[in-house]
Amino acid sequence: RPTIGVLALQGDVREHVAALAHCGADAVLVRRESELAAVDGLVLPGGESTAISKLLQAFDLLEPLRARLRDGLPAFGSCAGMILLASEVLDTRPDAQHLSGIDMTVRRNAFGRQVDSFETDLDFAGLDTPVRAVFIRAPWVERVGDGVEVLARVPHGPAQGRIVAARQGNVVATSFHPEVTGDLRVHELFVDVVRKAR
Ligand code: GLN
Repeated sequence: RPTIGVLALQGDVREHVAALAHCGADAVLVRRESELAAVDGLVLPGGESTAISKLLQAFDLLEPLRARLRDGLPAFGSCAGMILLASEVLDTRPDAQHLSGIDMTVRRNAFGRQVDSFETDLDFAGLDTPVRAVFIRAPWVERVGDGVEVLARVPHGPAQGRIVAARQGNVVATSFHPEVTGDLRVHELFVDVVRKAR
């Protein structure tokens, strides 16, 4: 069984732990460098990206995490986690840090007030039926670099066509929260990425 950490500084940690355990991983909490060093993959949960960014610095995890990502650590970020994994973030605080796990520009709180939280079904690359996607003050992806695979886009409405899931190498990010729906396929996909990377 792969050991997969959930970054447990802030956010919906418990939901990711439960989803990973259902997918056959040993899910562990990561709050310190020694815990980070012991995992085969890491989930960055939904929550508040600027708060998590501050806590990464306060817990001396920012540089160790950047180093592990550079070395190819598989990672999956949902919502705030997607923001943290971006290489560029729009509409964030000037002192917020990010990890550049995926070459992409992400706009924080992108959907605006009218639709700032909503659910929809969307097609997801590699899955044969649509995924139920829950968006909560979510980001979207405005630019992806070469080598980044677009996994999902908003199917309709004012944000139609916006990228909401992407992958580069062993790093996966979604604007939405697969950990809250009971549909485990995105977590299964990530556990599979971690297994293959081991
Ligand atoms: N709006 C949050 C942020 O900027 C993300 C929301 C979420 O993770 N549900 O970090």
